[in-house]
Amino acid sequence: MITVITNARIFDGERVIDEHMVVIDGANVHSVGGVAPAGTTVIDAQGATLMPGLIDSHVHTDVDGLHDALLFGVTTELEMNGRWSTKQRKAISVRTDIADLRSPGMGVTAKGGHPAQYVRSSSNLFIRFFYHYPFVSTPAEATKFVGKQVARGADYIKVFIEDGSCVGFPGLPTIDDETLLATVKEAHRYDKMAIAHVTTVEGGQRAIAAGVDGLAHIFFDRQPTPKFVAAIASSGAFVIPTLVTISSAVGNNASALAADARVKCRLSQRWLDSLSRGINVYPRGKLQDVFSSVLALHKAGVDILAGSDVSEPVPSLGGLAHGASLHHELQLLVAAGLTPIEALRTATSTPARRFGLNDRGRIVAGARADLLLVDGDPTTNISDTLSIRAVWRRGVQLNTQKRATRKWS
Ligand SMILES: [Zn+2]
Repeated sequence: MITVITNARIFDGERVIDEHMVVIDGANVHSVGGVAPAGTTVIDAQGATLMPGLIDSHVHTDVDGLHDALLFGVTTELEMNGRWSTKQRKAISVRTDIADLRSPGMGVTAKGGHPAQYVRSSSNLFIRFFYHYPFVSTPAEATKFVGKQVARGADYIKVFIEDGSCVGFPGLPTIDDETLLATVKEAHRYDKMAIAHVTTVEGGQRAIAAGVDGLAHIFFDRQPTPKFVAAIASSGAFVIPTLVTISSAVGNNASALAADARVKCRLSQRWLDSLSRGINVYPRGKLQDVFSSVLALHKAGVDILAGSDVSEPVPSLGGLAHGASLHHELQLLVAAGLTPIEALRTATSTPARRFGLNDRGRIVAGARADLLLVDGDPTTNISDTLSIRAVWRRGVQLNTQKRATRKWS
């Protein structure tokens, strides 16, 4: 089936282009610009902007999360710790009713290390007493653990460096430098990226010194020195700031977002309630300082990737919702000083390039037709990304007015 979208402003993942027409043939973009083929379904996109489907580069998800993400035009979620099997992910990749997914499997952490404290403090007694979080204690164990994740289909490797000081659990054990180095080396031996969870400058320094490919959060205990900013830039590592999560950690909630009619109509009450809460585990943190850190990295040439760190609608993880929070992240990146177009790249072409997702993140002939059409012009007013008119996954248009069916609603 051929669909033609005409009269659109087109942000191609990098910039606004001169063309105004995109032809979708089956699951892919057939062509950009030119003359509309006769006898096709034509969608007049006057007054709207067509963009690549968005990529959230930091989530923890399930089928319900993937459903909600797609309702918001997030066509790919990149997980940063989880239990998906290769078989499940293959089935997801061909679906058109939920977002696509990449995952590292389980992350490398120390005994009792992050995020095992959430298991110990879970209100679910079964989880608290019978679930044992996997951990490593030595370089040899880390090497073996990485191999196991790769065998299970990991797309990249996640490693946790978290002393708990910024997340409300001070004194958490972390893996030592030898184990960290062994993790990164083994990931690279399999040609996989190693991505580190950090929340402090010290954690970031350990990760960069070990040669990681990316940081899954920006540190928010203090601002980096210019020397460390330069070291990150010259290492080539990307940074996924997850400003929405840090905003929640320092005591803000996202109730204004939850009250936005464009968000409200797409989320269950449970998720709206969760979005309205803040986790407030680091009240002495200042979001303005974190904005400065993001801008310094961006100006130094570090690739910034938009990610939310959304997972489940539970009180310890409030202020977030699948899909909606990625739009919120774009708004915060603009508040930090990126231009709207620079912010849009962090959720399209940049993550696609960094994660080797060569079939998406751009609107070009041959790319998969994962597309988002919004009213207005998000290249000048970032909030317009939420004015969703249509979403396509693999060329199939989604009914975005319909709420997903989920076990929690
Ligand atoms: Zn996370």
